[in-house]
Amino acid sequence: MSFQGDISVIGAGTMGNGIAHVFAQYGFRVTLIDISQEQLDKAIATIGRNLDRMVTKEVISKEKKEETLKHITTSTSIAEGVKTAGLVVEAATENTDLKLKIFQQADAAAPADCILASNTSSISITRIAAVTKRPQRVIGMHFMNPVPVMKLVEIITNPATTKEVTDTIVSLSKVLGKVPCVVNDFPGFIANRILMPMINEAIYSLQEGVAGVTEIDTIMKLGMAHPMGPLQLADLIGLDVCLSIINVLYEGFGNPKYKPCPLLEDMVKEGKLGIKTGEGFYVYTAGSKELVVSGKFK
Ligand code: NAD
Repeated sequence: MSFQGDISVIGAGTMGNGIAHVFAQYGFRVTLIDISQEQLDKAIATIGRNLDRMVTKEVISKEKKEETLKHITTSTSIAEGVKTAGLVVEAATENTDLKLKIFQQADAAAPADCILASNTSSISITRIAAVTKRPQRVIGMHFMNPVPVMKLVEIITNPATTKEVTDTIVSLSKVLGKVPCVVNDFPGFIANRILMPMINEAIYSLQEGVAGVTEIDTIMKLGMAHPMGPLQLADLIGLDVCLSIINVLYEGFGNPKYKPCPLLEDMVKEGKLGIKTGEGFYVYTAGSKELVVSGKFK
């Protein structure tokens, strides 16, 4: 039988709002949880705007938009927000200690049969599972950004994950119109083990003056038929998120080839995190569709 429980999404940032959107659009009741009420309000506004865009493009009806929004409630408490969940999807900041704490809290408050999933880009699912009393019901459910658009869900099992839990998450991903791929638990899994070294190398190329932002992105876009260049993609992902993932690869494999580029570290220190802060390799102004290179790289 297909999964029919309630969904709790922990973290209402870039990914959390997209994950809540998709589950709600497919008829699930969703509780979106964040420590920040401001982030929750922002997330609901973003979901509304993204649904409006889908109405304009005639992907969904106006009624469907209203119905989707009605399926989402918000909470600032994990203990309250996961009480009736059949599945928790954690999409909080990419930080190991934070995720371990969140999983302990969710494990203590969620029903015994609830599946606990993480949308982490790189952190060990085995390590996360070990802090819970239900490692057999802990799994990685890694959505891609932007969640309503991107088809892939990378599913990461830990050695204790049961076949029943994996099968449930595989079939649930299909219900959401996604294509699931099951992989084993290694640093960065598959998606980011391959993507992040490319982004890091693009930033090294910029730092070393091999080419400018526009040239690097144009070469990778037109030369490799990528939909966007690696620097633009880094801005979309969030430079802080990229740095955290690259550090997980660097520490996890102990191999200097994954060393984060100093320019990336500097940009994170400066708070230039990409789209979410309005500036990264490019600058972003509300309503503008034009790609403008940041003054720092002109
Ligand atoms: P983000 O910085 O946009 O959002 C993180 C959110 O987590 C914030 O709203 C923050 O307030 C919230 N948060 C922090 N501590 C919390 C707590 N204790 N309880 C509840 N909420 C808390 O980050 P993001 O880009 O949405 O990334 C979230 C997760 O998704 C990370 O694990 C990241 O690696 C992963 N991911 C990101 C992308 C991407 O393109 N950005 C893609 C795939 C996966």
